[in-house]
Amino acid sequence: MVLVVVMGLLFGSFLNVVIARVPAGESIVRPRSRCPHCGRQLTWYENIPVLSWLVQRARCRGCQAPISWRYPLIEVLTAALFFACQRRFGWTPELVLALVFVLLLVPLAFIDLEHWILPTELTWPGIAAGVALSVPLGMPRLIDAVLGALAGFFVFWALEWVGEKIFKKEALGAGDKDLLALIGAFLSWKALLGVIFLSSLQGAVVGSVMLLLYGRAGPAPDASPEPDARTPAEPAPADGAGEGTAEDEEDDWVPGPTNIPFGPWLSVAALEVMLLGPWLRDVLPVPMDVLLTGLR
Ligand SMILES: [Zn+2]
Repeated sequence: MVLVVVMGLLFGSFLNVVIARVPAGESIVRPRSRCPHCGRQLTWYENIPVLSWLVQRARCRGCQAPISWRYPLIEVLTAALFFACQRRFGWTPELVLALVFVLLLVPLAFIDLEHWILPTELTWPGIAAGVALSVPLGMPRLIDAVLGALAGFFVFWALEWVGEKIFKKEALGAGDKDLLALIGAFLSWKALLGVIFLSSLQGAVVGSVMLLLYGRAGPAPDASPEPDARTPAEPAPADGAGEGTAEDEEDDWVPGPTNIPFGPWLSVAALEVMLLGPWLRDVLPVPMDVLLTGLR
């Protein structure tokens, strides 16, 4: 139990690096972590999850610049999700699948919240990982994972078609289809209906409340020119030929007040279906229980 929580904190610390560097096209391995304000390299005792942030009272030891509460939040969140996964699956091969799923969903959700993109550097290897980690779970599960990835793409195209033909507008971003395929690969095609239902419902409810309270349903687009200045040229990743064009399109597009990034809502719904599946199956009325959880 303690082991899972400590692992969650350490991996959460690494996810902070992923969230900061992947959208900027930087390496997540080197250089060592630096203060984003003064650039001073951090020592090992400034990198201890949560504790360093508390001891330093949320400030850099060098320049006293405030350190965002997002860092300890992501560490605690990852630890809590690791703990919940262990309670749900025990020490089984399925736990490995669940933990890797968490390690993909957390950074994708936070990157989408901040930058309105779901980087293919995370989603495409993630889809492959979901299929590969289903192999130890047996042939039926492997088939479900492959069908899940394909269904994710298919469902997206269907939703896109409905949006264009009937509502005359683009409902989803390009990255959402990769995330749906990723969720399908990890949770099997059976869980996709529940994930789409829960994410739409929760996104619509919270988005409407936000719209009433703050005048916009999603977070404000990143207005500071600083991140762009740091990375003048997007280095083309070796595996993503479509990445450059996707990025260029994203640059021109500015989220309006009624737009919400859908990735975080898909991630939340996927975690709900995975972690609360058996409970949802027991409390939901008859046709809904199997349809929304994918469990029998
Ligand atoms: Zn500093």
